[in-house]
Amino acid sequence: MSHEQLPKKPNAAEPWEIEGTRPLVEIRGVSKHFGDVVAVEDAWLDIYEKELFSILGGSGSGKSTLLRMLAGFETPTSGRILIDGKDMTAVPPYERPVNMMFQSYALFPHMSVEQNVAYGLKREGVAKAEIADRVAHMLDMVRMSRLAKRKPNALSGGERQRVALARSLIKRPRLLLLDEPLAALDKKLREHTQFELMGLQDELGITFVVVTHDQEEAMTLSTRVAVMNDGRFEQVGTPGQVYEFPINRFVADFVGTINFLACKVTSCEGGRAELESVEAGETLHARLEQPREPGSTGWLAVRPEKIFISKERPEGDSRTVLRGVVEDLGYFGNLSVYRVRLPSGKILQVSGQNRVRTARKTVEWDDEVFVSWDVGSAIVLDE
Ligand code: ADP
Ligand code: MG
Repeated sequence: MSHEQLPKKPNAAEPWEIEGTRPLVEIRGVSKHFGDVVAVEDAWLDIYEKELFSILGGSGSGKSTLLRMLAGFETPTSGRILIDGKDMTAVPPYERPVNMMFQSYALFPHMSVEQNVAYGLKREGVAKAEIADRVAHMLDMVRMSRLAKRKPNALSGGERQRVALARSLIKRPRLLLLDEPLAALDKKLREHTQFELMGLQDELGITFVVVTHDQEEAMTLSTRVAVMNDGRFEQVGTPGQVYEFPINRFVADFVGTINFLACKVTSCEGGRAELESVEAGETLHARLEQPREPGSTGWLAVRPEKIFISKERPEGDSRTVLRGVVEDLGYFGNLSVYRVRLPSGKILQVSGQNRVRTARKTVEWDDEVFVSWDVGSAIVLDE
């Protein structure tokens, strides 16, 4: 296929960028307290139709509580939740256009795969022939037709997950809530299942809200991510936004690996700052989105993959160049990770793709090296 024949991705704006688009879910100033425990505090969030939205945060940050409030299993202490424009406060779980897939999958052990998936429709009194049709179609979608007669205890973790997914999708909810849907699967299967989940979501056009503590998972899956900490949203944005433009140290650190160098602004002009850093041992430069006061302190942050490591001093005056010594080196096949000690004692983590196939590493333990990055690759963050 020539380049011209490649299908063009429509470059329509995303729904959250279009003024006046009605969100499917509106979380308006929602808090949930359990006695003294603040599980969720003043959460504001809009989720749009057909999004695959992730709520990302560490254990105890309030993710499940937020999801349970969307499902109706918990009542907010204050604030309101609207789904499809309708206030959900007085609407019980079973009357919401929502379904939830639990972390444990909660399959009925005495029922076959088929019966598990059919359960919700049967309870609603849907006609037998229609149930059979819909179950067959759903099992086909999650590739479980072959195992329709099996009981859950005769299934692998991945298969059980697909049954749980089929069961929660059969009633075609507007919104599917998934609490750590992949946590019980091993790494390889998890990656595979991620793509299946995305495919299924795309095919069905159902809005997914996924809770996860796994940042890679959130990055791969999502249209947007809300990073949660201590019951609050630190940042909401596309995976690219939260990764490349984290708004604070917490987000930068939680989403991927990043190096921080303590610094002080010495001058700031035309979107470019000069920074003094004892840890770096050199004057640093960075482009700034927002001007900063000379004298103010902060952190210059740069991700390991944005740093270039070399034995010769790299060319180019738009680069920051520091000297260091390789203290540690990890070879991961597709990439190598280096820990480089600067003269100040500060360690920088650097990662590089192994582009050339060779058994000989060009940079070795104890080598004196240059680490460098483009000025535009670094950001400056507050505490
Ligand atoms: P996450 O899913 O991010 O791990 P949770 O939403 O489960 O976090 O919990 C957030 C906080 O609220 C935790 O401190 C947890 O102990 C507390 N919590 C959750 N549910 C209850 C409950 N029913 N009673 C008391 N505290 C709770
Ligand atoms: Mg949880």
